[in-house]
Amino acid sequence: MLDAVEPAHRPVDWAVYGIPFDGGVTYRPGARFGPRAIREASQYVKRYHIEHAVDVCEKLSLADAGDSPVRPYSIKETLDAAGDWARGIADPGTRLLALGGDHSIAYANMRVTWERHGRPRGGLALVHFDAHLDTVDAVWGERWGHASPFIRAIEDGIVDPSAMISLGIRGPLNSASDLDFARSRGVEVLSADQARATGAAALRGFVSKLSGRAAYVSLDIDVVDPAFAPGTGTPSVGGLASHELLTLLRSLGGVQLAGADVVEVLPDRDVSGNTAFLAAHAAFEIIALSAAVA
Ligand code: MN
Ligand code: MN
Repeated sequence: MLDAVEPAHRPVDWAVYGIPFDGGVTYRPGARFGPRAIREASQYVKRYHIEHAVDVCEKLSLADAGDSPVRPYSIKETLDAAGDWARGIADPGTRLLALGGDHSIAYANMRVTWERHGRPRGGLALVHFDAHLDTVDAVWGERWGHASPFIRAIEDGIVDPSAMISLGIRGPLNSASDLDFARSRGVEVLSADQARATGAAALRGFVSKLSGRAAYVSLDIDVVDPAFAPGTGTPSVGGLASHELLTLLRSLGGVQLAGADVVEVLPDRDVSGNTAFLAAHAAFEIIALSAAVA
C-alpha cells in the first residue's frame, strides 16, 4: 500500500548497468556475457542485510539501467561510448555500479563517477580487489586493456594513488618491476596472504583515514580463488574464499561510496554458476554499505 507521504518522484540512489565488453582481455575472452549472468543470478538476492542490520531497498532506490553501448573492435571507443551513455543516466546524484565485462571497462565508470563528484582534485579514493594490480603501462602495445585501467586513471587524475588500496594480489609476475608503479605512487598493496591476515584491519584503517571522503570500489571477481569462482578469464590460484571477500567488504562499514564496479565474470567457464552468484552477492554487499550510512 502506498504511503500517503510517498513523494511522487524519488531520485535513483544507485543505477546498476552492464558494459558487455571483453575486447580488453589478455587471456581468455567471454566476460562480455557477464552482465546478463550476474543479472540472472541476482534474482535470488534479497533485500535485508544481517550484519549491517539494514533493509537496503527501504533506504535506497535502485534501478537496473540496462547495458551501455559497446564498440567490440575498439577498447578506447567502447570506453568513450559507455562513458557518454552513463553520463546520461538519471540525475547527477545517482551513483553508478557497472557490471563487466573485463576490467578495462572500470575506467569508463570511474571517470563518470569522478565527474559526478565534482572532479575532485587529486582524484577519487579507491578500494581495489583483484589478483592483479592492473597498473601495467601497455600489453602488446595496447594501453587501454584490462591490465591497465588504474595506471590510466591515476595518470588522468581520476584516482588518487595515495588513497588507493589493492587487496588480493598474487601469482607469478613478469618481474619485480611490475610492482614499481603502484608502490612508487603510494598505493597500499596487500597480497592475498596479507589480505587474509590483516585485510579487515587495513580496510577499517583505510575508511577511518578517509574521514568522510567518498571512495570507489572496483571488484575483479578473480580476487576470489578459482575453487569458488572459476568463471573468470585470468584465474589465479591461492585467492580468497568467498566468505573472506564478504568479510573484507563488510570491513568497509561506514564508508561513503562514490561508485563501484564488479567485473571479469566469464559465464562460459562458470560450471556451477557460483561465480555469477558471488558477483551478484558482492554487488549487494557494496550497495548495502551505502544503505548502512544512508
Ligand atoms: Mn584480475
Ligand atoms: Mn583486474
